[in-house]
Order: sequence, then C-alpha cells, then structure tokens
Amino acid sequence: MEIAIIAHDGKKAEMVSFLMKHLGVLDRNDIKLVSTGTTGAHAEKAGLTVTRFQSGPIGGDAEIAARVVQGLTDMVLFFRDPLGKHPHEPDVAMLMRLCDVHNVPLATNPASAELLMRSL
Ligand code: PGA
Repeated sequence: MEIAIIAHDGKKAEMVSFLMKHLGVLDRNDIKLVSTGTTGAHAEKAGLTVTRFQSGPIGGDAEIAARVVQGLTDMVLFFRDPLGKHPHEPDVAMLMRLCDVHNVPLATNPASAELLMRSL
C-alpha cells in the first residue's frame, strides 16, 4: 500500500508529530511512503523511509496527483494550511479533485488522518 504525505509549511510540525505517533504502522514493510520534497525531508528526520518527489510549489503535488491517477497511490494524507496563501493552489485543488475522481482516501487534517490510520 502506498501512502502519500504532504504538509504545507504551517502544518509541518503537526505532520511530524503525527508521523512519530504512527511510526509503528507507517514503518511496516507492506506500507510505502511517498511525499513532496520538504515534507519528506521532515519524515526522514523522524526516522521513516520515504520516496521524495519535487517540493510542492514546483510540482510535487502534481507528481503525487499523477500517481493517484495511475493507481499507484492508495491514500493521501495532506495537512493543508487553510490560513496560508499558496502559489501552487491550482495543483492542490487538482490533487484533491483527482482523489475524488479515483475514490482515493484523502485526509486534509490530523483528525481525519487519525481515523484513516485506524483502518490500517
Ligand atoms: P513540501 O510541499 O513538502 O515540498 O513543502 C508541500 C506543499 O506545499 O504542497
């Protein structure tokens, strides 16, 4: 199972605590993590193995969206910062739309991600 993790800058600290809390599940052999560039660097510091794509603002969200379309990514944990302005908002909207198109579970905040984790 491939899980994509992405966090806007204002949510990276929350993503790191979330990852630490769920290290036991996310580190399992049957789970592969992919991420946007900077989020992935944080996840690696937290002790996880992650395949990192480009940073979000230069196309990382779009790369993950493409994996959703190709049926490669099975779940997306995307901690969005609703109070920030993001130059790559069109890519963010595209990723969320394509998760809906392809019926891929998408959590956009830690509480929802927590519920998805319980399913693993
Ligand atoms: P980042 O990208 O992990 O490279 O910061 C996340 C985003 O802003 O979409």
